[in-house]
Amino acid sequence: MDRQQEFVLRTLEERDIRFVRLWFTDVLGFLKSVAVAPAELEGAFAEGIGFDGSAIEGFARVYESDMVARPDPSTFQVLPWATNEGDHYSARMFCDITMPDGSPSWADPRHVLSRTLSKASEAGFTCYVHPEIEFFLLRTVNGDGTRPEPADNGGYFDQASHDAAPHFRRRAIEALEAMGISVEFSHHENAPGQQEIDLRYADALTMADNVMTFRYVVKEVALMQGVRASFMPKPFTDQPGSGMHTHVSLFEGDRNAFYDSEDPYELSPTGKAFVAGLLRHAREICAVTNQWVNSYKRLIVGGEAPTTVCWGHANRSALVRVPMYSPGKASSRRVEIRSLDSACNPYLAYAVILAAGLRGVQKEYELPPAAEDDVWSLTDAERRAAGYANLPQNLNEALIEMENSELVAETLGEHVFDFFLRNKRAEWDAYRREVTPYELRTYLPML
Ligand code: GLN
Ligand code: MG
Ligand code: MG
Ligand code: MG
Repeated sequence: MDRQQEFVLRTLEERDIRFVRLWFTDVLGFLKSVAVAPAELEGAFAEGIGFDGSAIEGFARVYESDMVARPDPSTFQVLPWATNEGDHYSARMFCDITMPDGSPSWADPRHVLSRTLSKASEAGFTCYVHPEIEFFLLRTVNGDGTRPEPADNGGYFDQASHDAAPHFRRRAIEALEAMGISVEFSHHENAPGQQEIDLRYADALTMADNVMTFRYVVKEVALMQGVRASFMPKPFTDQPGSGMHTHVSLFEGDRNAFYDSEDPYELSPTGKAFVAGLLRHAREICAVTNQWVNSYKRLIVGGEAPTTVCWGHANRSALVRVPMYSPGKASSRRVEIRSLDSACNPYLAYAVILAAGLRGVQKEYELPPAAEDDVWSLTDAERRAAGYANLPQNLNEALIEMENSELVAETLGEHVFDFFLRNKRAEWDAYRREVTPYELRTYLPML
């Protein structure tokens, strides 16, 4: 047993923890959990815990369903609350999923990201990420299609004093910090009920784990405050949606490979080629960064979400922004990708953005000129003349792009690629058949 494993066992004993939840994520980004007693853990470290993979979305075909969850002791954290007062605390660890012979499972999103990170590391890079996570606090979440009611009436940066959940952000941040997730910044976002919490940067794998933990913690804290949290990309037609702007940088050792003090954007040739990769492959990775039918309701003009494949500096209508918050500070030179929404699978989304950026670096793509104008105010013809492509306008268009993408197929691996496309085609078909309230409202009186 190694030192981290020993630390886990000792902590369980010292804190009298009776349940350890072993967490992993399915292909669509849902958190899965199997609870084990501490006594089982030594065995789990040595051999993993077997489970039936065919019961999990995207994991296995029925005839090869035996899978093994192997807890990663470096992700051990005690959950910051007990379920009921007087109960014992429980803890969690993220798992890698393997086949019974110990080889990695091709269906495990965490493995998809680790594989991509190994490629980055072969090229000498460590990848750091920090997300700005937006979401809604709602009074209730009905599954019957009625409009939800936001939990407050605040707006951008408001110090709302009439919140239904006045202490929500503070409580959520305390819980995240207690689990080793540092919060950099938090505020009320534009729409009523909408919140943003920005996490302090970490390496991409840790951050993908953190995003999964974040969603769980935020939903739990909301429930404790009598409200509900939702990461749905666009719950309201007339309000902005919830994005997950993602800041990325590549380091070579402790040197930020994106920084160049001589450049007007302080962006190095590596940084520029990375952005060029993000732009060139933007359309084909979009189904992964924006994976739901509803994701494309957010990517419209208005609401500060990107619609056009271009990059800029202070330009918030651009897909990729090179923010200049701390000029001259090498360590903070980074690029911000604004398409991701808060309901993506963070492992797969980080894998495809990294793969796109690295492809740009490896093939030395040339960066097109920055778009300094507001691309939302251009007509389609003006956008075409400027050479800007649009992002896909719906899931169907995004899937067609993804189907033809050698980059995405290679990054996700055949199993995840095929499952994802099949599952998302079914989602699109179900949506396409539905006669919506919009149609009844618009056509019935008229036709
Ligand atoms: N909510 C916007 C989006 O969907 C972002 C708003 C902002 O942070 N400027 O991306
Ligand atoms: Mg922000
Ligand atoms: Mg924001
Ligand atoms: Mg931002």
